[in-house]
Amino acid sequence: MEETTSRSSSKVVAVVGGGLVGALNACFFAKRGFQVELFEAREDIRRARHVKGRSINLALSHRGRQALQHVGMEEKIVSQGIPMNARMIHSPSGKLSSIPYGKKGQVDFRKETCLMCRPVRCFALTEAETYPNMQLNFDHKLQDWSAETGLMTFARSDGSVQEIQADLIVGCDGAFSAIRKQFLRRSRFNYSQTYIPHGYMELTMPPVHGEFAMEPNYLHIWPRNTFMMIALPNLDKTFTCTLFMPFEEFEKITTGEEVMEFFHRYFPDTIPLIGADALKRDYFRLPAQAMVSVKCSPYHIGDKCVLMGDAAHAVVPFYGQGMNAGFEDCVVFDEMMEQFKEDLSKCVVLPEYTRVRVPDDHAIADLAMYNYVEMRAHVNSRWFLFRKLLDSFLYAIMPKTIIPLYTMVTFTRTPYHEAVERWHWQNKVINGGLLLGATGAALGVACVLIKNPPDVNKLAGPAEKLWSRLMAVGAA
Ligand code: FAD
Repeated sequence: MEETTSRSSSKVVAVVGGGLVGALNACFFAKRGFQVELFEAREDIRRARHVKGRSINLALSHRGRQALQHVGMEEKIVSQGIPMNARMIHSPSGKLSSIPYGKKGQVDFRKETCLMCRPVRCFALTEAETYPNMQLNFDHKLQDWSAETGLMTFARSDGSVQEIQADLIVGCDGAFSAIRKQFLRRSRFNYSQTYIPHGYMELTMPPVHGEFAMEPNYLHIWPRNTFMMIALPNLDKTFTCTLFMPFEEFEKITTGEEVMEFFHRYFPDTIPLIGADALKRDYFRLPAQAMVSVKCSPYHIGDKCVLMGDAAHAVVPFYGQGMNAGFEDCVVFDEMMEQFKEDLSKCVVLPEYTRVRVPDDHAIADLAMYNYVEMRAHVNSRWFLFRKLLDSFLYAIMPKTIIPLYTMVTFTRTPYHEAVERWHWQNKVINGGLLLGATGAALGVACVLIKNPPDVNKLAGPAEKLWSRLMAVGAA
């Protein structure tokens, strides 16, 4: 447990939601010396025999690690994960090609780490419990709360109702936040939510002879334009494969034979690894899940409440940043608490948090949507692969001038909105340079041809061939 300060010991902070962000955030407030009450609707996940639904595994990167470091949890959590060094692209014919994430020297534990969601949540709750000024309340489902008084009403599974008051309420209750509902009733609250047409389904790839069935230190991707599958490694030597596909395509597959037909056509290399029987069974185990992107602002009401994590900004999972951004929310808030000496009155920390954080969270929501297309479609394009190579080359020779977007987002704490602005600027410069280079080369060739005109008769054959090739490529 980290040392606590005593400045805030009389104030009560209620963290609503004991998910990844809530559990971590509770540690941040406890470390500052607040009396922290964490309320979680479900039973204690550490004691639960069956956890409903999915077994999501998550890529933890720099922003998340920095947050964990603040409360002394980084190394303990990272040691429970598997480092990932690059993306591994699987073509329909089973050909493999890897796309490194960044510079060679970065390929180590400073890169992305694949973690299983449940053990991380359990660990964060256990860590939170070690603070003497922390109270964990499970089976407390928030029903209503007052922005004027800070009074919250919780429902218990035995039918009882409990009322509790807090000086500050921190809404970490996920994408369908009950805390956020109060915000929606107020004027000048901006809110939008978008469900994408794709759903996702998880399948397990078991170990082969006690070892990983594929190279473990990669994010494996099977891009198939309108849909894709990814696979992330787990400590128990399994891979969790996640199939992202439009709901209407999921619904078209209704029998085991159709599942096999589909996998033979698009992911043939995975059939022996997942197993035909498991595929036919697991495809129908749970329905495909929806994915929502939520944007809102402001993130606070007066001096009473602030939203963080998915409650403030649910993003689609294609940049692997939802949890990382939520963890970074905790650091940003903590940095402001430090800067403004924990002044939680109306005009200081909370509005400043909204001012600074909203543009960044909106930027990562947009980037996640952009990557939704990049991962399943662009990685198949030669132009995209060429640009990735060029970006990596320029980054290697000018690391301060050209930094690939993925590097800025995943391996730095550059504010997300600044990363996007810089990316647009870099694209202009690189595309301008390419255009200039191509024009220069064309002019050079033209000059040479003007000075030394070739024998037209000799060129006729090759030129015809080249022309017919170009026509064939164009038609394809
Ligand atoms: P949640 O995890 O949703 O937790 C909210 C908690 O609040 C829950 O425990 C819930 O029970 C509780 N709660 C809800 N309502 C109430 C109530 N009324 N009263 C009390 N408690 C309540 N992120 C990454 O960074 N990297 C990844 O690789 C990644 N991959 C992903 C893959 C998929 C398929 C998906 C769906 C998401 C992925 N994410 C990833 C996103 C990440 O899972 C979320 O951003 C993160 O879990 C959000 O944490 P949270 O604590 O804000 O919300």
